[in-house]
Amino acid sequence: SRAAALPRGRVAAAGGRRAPTMVERPSVDQSTVDRYASLPLNGKVFAEYIWLGGLSAVDCNGVKQCMDPDDIRSKTKVVDKVPTSPADLPKWNFDGSSTGQAPGDDSEVILHPVAVYPDPFRGSPHVLVLCDCYTPQGVPLPSNTRAPAKALMDKVSDQVPWFGIEQEYTLLDLDGKPLGWPKMGFPAPQGPYYCGAGATRAIGRELADAHARACLYAGIQLSGVNLEVMLSQLEYQVGPCVGIDSGDQMWVARYIMLRLCEEFNCVASLHPKPMTEGEWNGAGCHTNFSTEAMRQPGGFEVIKGCMPKLEAAHQKHIALYGVDNDARLSGSFETQAIDKFSWGVADRGASIRVGRDVEAEGKGFFEDRRPGSNIDPYTVTAALVETCLM
Ligand code: ADP
Ligand code: MN
Ligand code: MN
Ligand code: MN
Ligand code: MN
Repeated sequence: SRAAALPRGRVAAAGGRRAPTMVERPSVDQSTVDRYASLPLNGKVFAEYIWLGGLSAVDCNGVKQCMDPDDIRSKTKVVDKVPTSPADLPKWNFDGSSTGQAPGDDSEVILHPVAVYPDPFRGSPHVLVLCDCYTPQGVPLPSNTRAPAKALMDKVSDQVPWFGIEQEYTLLDLDGKPLGWPKMGFPAPQGPYYCGAGATRAIGRELADAHARACLYAGIQLSGVNLEVMLSQLEYQVGPCVGIDSGDQMWVARYIMLRLCEEFNCVASLHPKPMTEGEWNGAGCHTNFSTEAMRQPGGFEVIKGCMPKLEAAHQKHIALYGVDNDARLSGSFETQAIDKFSWGVADRGASIRVGRDVEAEGKGFFEDRRPGSNIDPYTVTAALVETCLM
């Protein structure tokens, strides 16, 4: 019928609400690029300073934490020697009036280097430098969610909190349609795609593999990759990482994905429910959490002790767990309803899942399944620490 031939699903924007606009990206001949990439640089090193922008606050709709997960900025500093730690690098600044982070008449935002990674794009000795943002007076900007998270992580460092984050994402064409989907109508229903193989079932594998390799080169503790339930939806996992390192590595992994998408000509959307019509899974950012006590014999009891605290703080967590996550946490498609809290062993319909092996061994970790794919990992890891450990 005519109706069946029309596109029905609303396609949400990448991360935030701004729909990607179709653009014809200029293509560059690879041999031309290579010619300059091999020029000697007189001993100089490129340090790509990366920071989180401030575009978030614009379309918040009253949600407290609403940063745009695609708003990651960077610029290049040429330095004289190879930096191996943030202490080897100077503070720097940028024009905060161009990123929604400062007024035009007092526009300087100060970048403080916090972590250094080998640069998978330029190759060693060049580096990526993750920074957080401060006023010239040394006060963290409102968009600097790292600063309060770091302060909290420092307080509980004796408990050695580990986090493993599962980043789900959806590949879109530059016109905003899921990559490889028919432009009119829908692909065959979900079922064969999760961890699937074959030309009509696996889309995005090349990009996911390039991303995995680039992350490993950069020293990101990438622990795995898989194709997801919806066609063109994928996942990578980062962890386990200790404390603030989890948020740091997640943001760098996301930055690497943004950079790769420039080359692969697609968008890795972090919207939690890219397809709202039809029977399609949303995208989450399951956050796995443990402390030293949970990893020791008797740890399952420690884990169980967290559950009433998490239940009591459910609304607080939900408010921090991603914009538009209400469309995802429907109570179906492997989620619990947004207004319900539950936990269970091996239960993928619960808010919190404990693995079968954790129950069997009496120790391990738990998985918070509520966070949407567009969360700020600094905020979510800090919220888990605050609720469970403070
Ligand atoms: P799922 O079965 O939910 O798909 P994944 O294998 O995708 O789980 O992700 C699990 C994540 O949990 C990985 O990043 C892994 O490194 C992490 N993880 C494993 N053990 C722990 C632990 N003790 N504490 C925190 N995170 C952990
Ligand atoms: Mn300028
Ligand atoms: Mn997973
Ligand atoms: Mn998954
Ligand atoms: Mn999971």
